[in-house]
Amino acid sequence: MKKIQMVDLKSQYDKIAAVVNASIQEVLDTNTYINGPQVHQFQKSLEEYLDVKHVIPCANGTDALQIAMMGLDLKPGDEVITADFTFAATVEVIALLQLTPVLVDVDMHNMNISIEGIKKAITPKTRAIVPVHLFGRTANMEAIMAIAAAHNLYVIEDNAQAIGGNCKFSNGTKKKAGTIGHVGATSFFPSKNLGCYGDGGAIFTNDDALAHKLRGIVNHGMYERYHHDVVGVNSRLDSIQAAVLNVKLPLLDQYNNARRSAAVKYNAAFLGHSNIIVPFFDENEDDYVFHQYTLRIIDADRNGLMQHLLDKGIPCAIYYPIPLHSQKAYADARYKEEDFPVTNQLVKEVISLPMHTELDDEQIKFITESVLEFLK
Ligand SMILES: *Cc1c(COP(=O)(O)O)cnc(C)c1O
Repeated sequence: MKKIQMVDLKSQYDKIAAVVNASIQEVLDTNTYINGPQVHQFQKSLEEYLDVKHVIPCANGTDALQIAMMGLDLKPGDEVITADFTFAATVEVIALLQLTPVLVDVDMHNMNISIEGIKKAITPKTRAIVPVHLFGRTANMEAIMAIAAAHNLYVIEDNAQAIGGNCKFSNGTKKKAGTIGHVGATSFFPSKNLGCYGDGGAIFTNDDALAHKLRGIVNHGMYERYHHDVVGVNSRLDSIQAAVLNVKLPLLDQYNNARRSAAVKYNAAFLGHSNIIVPFFDENEDDYVFHQYTLRIIDADRNGLMQHLLDKGIPCAIYYPIPLHSQKAYADARYKEEDFPVTNQLVKEVISLPMHTELDDEQIKFITESVLEFLK
């Protein structure tokens, strides 16, 4: 059996090596390392794929979130609502910009930001909501956009984990995750669903004026060379990363399908087990692109299971072990433990199994049998 990895980037690369190498070689041959034609090509291809007017490439997903917020002219003290159960980058940029993060609990059924929680957290100072499409499952954007419209708030989608996923609306239409809010941010970190071979990120928006502003912010606030109209940053996607992404973007749907198909097999093995709650999803929908495959382990020893799997050479992980409201950097006297019952429960129950585009049946069988062997 091929060695099991949490994310198998090597096997994925092996299948596209010749094309990727040639694409990178072209950058080396033309010496256009920054803002080369590869970056422009990727921007255009991604705009087309996502059906969004503007893609602004940048250096990483954390920058993408930060720059998106800078573009919206949020002021120190403005409150920004986001989920308690997510990777720290989401709340980090809010705090860094001296905005006030307001963490709210998540919903148990999708582990995404609680719609009721958002409503309760809105105050006269609230200016924005940052939903995270956690583990590749799209948040309830229809409800979030309705709340935002009613309260005149911006919506910034953290789409680092769900690129290629679709949000379905009650009228039957679909839109790509990240393109529904006023602005969306994503990451091309190697292990993400669309990963480059280093750091990379992008911001999406359909708003022409905002796009113009964001293009300046990523480049030192310059719209005309050496004229700095706004405070900016230096955040670029380099041409070598764009060259890799130009090869991988056309494969994204195939990659996401491979992830979903692994999830179907996992679910089939675990469904109905009294200690396992599988991630619910509809196989016929494409609203869940399985950045992670995350189980809840109930009335059983989750940490013991993790050790059992590690002992058998099966990588696994707890995403995320500590709620953000309990992190030293983001603790706040306003938070009460009873405000976060779901996150507090999830951190004790969740375990993420290997999930990537190259899992084969033999590996999945070994992983599922090893889980079931421990839980009996
Ligand atoms: C990965 C990730 C980010 C940050 O992306 P980087 O490219 O690593 O900076 C932000 N938010 C979420 C939810 C992520 O998973």
